[in-house]
Amino acid sequence: MDKKINRYFCVQPFVNTTTRIQGQNNVCCNINSFESTIKSQSPGKFFLSDRVKKMREKMLKGVKLDECSLCYYQESMVNNSHRIEYNKYYNIKNDQQNEYYDKILKKLRLSDLDNPLYAELHISNLCNLKCLTCNERDSSKFHAENKLLGVSYDPSAEYSNFDINKYKALDSIIKRGLLFLDIRGGETLMVPEVKKILTEVEDDVAKNITLKIQTNGTIEPDKNWIEIFKKFKRTKVNLSIDAFGNDNHYVRFPSDWNKITATIKVLETHGIKFIVNTVVSNINLLLLDKLFGWIQENKYLNYFYILESPEHFRPTNLPQSLLDIALKRLQNVSKDFENKDCHPKLDDLINMCKSSGTDTHWQTFCKEIQMRDKYRQNNITNIIPQIKEYMNAKVQRDQ
Ligand code: SF4
Repeated sequence: MDKKINRYFCVQPFVNTTTRIQGQNNVCCNINSFESTIKSQSPGKFFLSDRVKKMREKMLKGVKLDECSLCYYQESMVNNSHRIEYNKYYNIKNDQQNEYYDKILKKLRLSDLDNPLYAELHISNLCNLKCLTCNERDSSKFHAENKLLGVSYDPSAEYSNFDINKYKALDSIIKRGLLFLDIRGGETLMVPEVKKILTEVEDDVAKNITLKIQTNGTIEPDKNWIEIFKKFKRTKVNLSIDAFGNDNHYVRFPSDWNKITATIKVLETHGIKFIVNTVVSNINLLLLDKLFGWIQENKYLNYFYILESPEHFRPTNLPQSLLDIALKRLQNVSKDFENKDCHPKLDDLINMCKSSGTDTHWQTFCKEIQMRDKYRQNNITNIIPQIKEYMNAKVQRDQ
């Protein structure tokens, strides 16, 4: 029996496939690797490939994997990570002896699946917003802006093309064994092909699958979308909202708060479950108290994710005096979230503000914000007035 303590086990390679916008397959969304693509390997085949099998073997032996470095980084910062969250989802404990993982996978019947239980597909970058912390692969508007600003790293890429490989990829995994289907845009509700494919999923297949939809909330789901949502066993809508009211217009530019509240009303009317999903960055760290107040007042379920990449948008990349303001505001947030998992995460955020700031990417942040503000005729001081003196100081030093 292998009694060595395993600090790196993750369930994802045993249950999940993630397919990114240009067709790269992987075992989760936290890995950037481009070795398998849907042009030559469907997500279903990738799940059964030698590469994934080797990864599973290493996971069972407690080997630290290079490709999982982002999770290890998250754990060093906030004692949490995608890995920890995914293990928790399957009720798998962390830091157990190797033999425990062998046994629990067998007990849960996850050792040797022939189809993923959970498939995540980034299907198209078609989007009506260009959220500041987004990127050109995930938003067509962001891509267009980057091209006009001359900063696109792939101006000729056609991320919103929906070719036969994407149809085949979906086809390879929407099967009876699938339990969760997570489809992402861009703005998922804007992508006609996604609507078509989901409409075509047969009722007796859909009735076993939980559908997860990511949306920025600015596209009100129409009658057809409501029919799709109701056809699946369960539908969970993740509403990406990073700030309250008009502040969200700046962070998730140019979102309209009235449209978001209209979407929430439609979902509530039809009994569709939704969760407010927030990316925490240095742009909204000082705005979170208002957002969390609104979430708690309305008793919405929520989840928040602390951004690691790109580094210049990490929450700790702020001058210390701004972190001090964020600290005071976060300490005033009551621990009254419907999702109790948010309470320790709020403590993590507070502790992050207490430790001294790591503003090593501050100049990159200032340049990026000033470039986008100028183009969008926006000004970050409208949402964080206290940032003004630091932006100016850096501009002077840059000159
Ligand atoms: S440890 Fe992290 S990066 Fe690695 S497979 Fe698990 S969730 Fe993905």
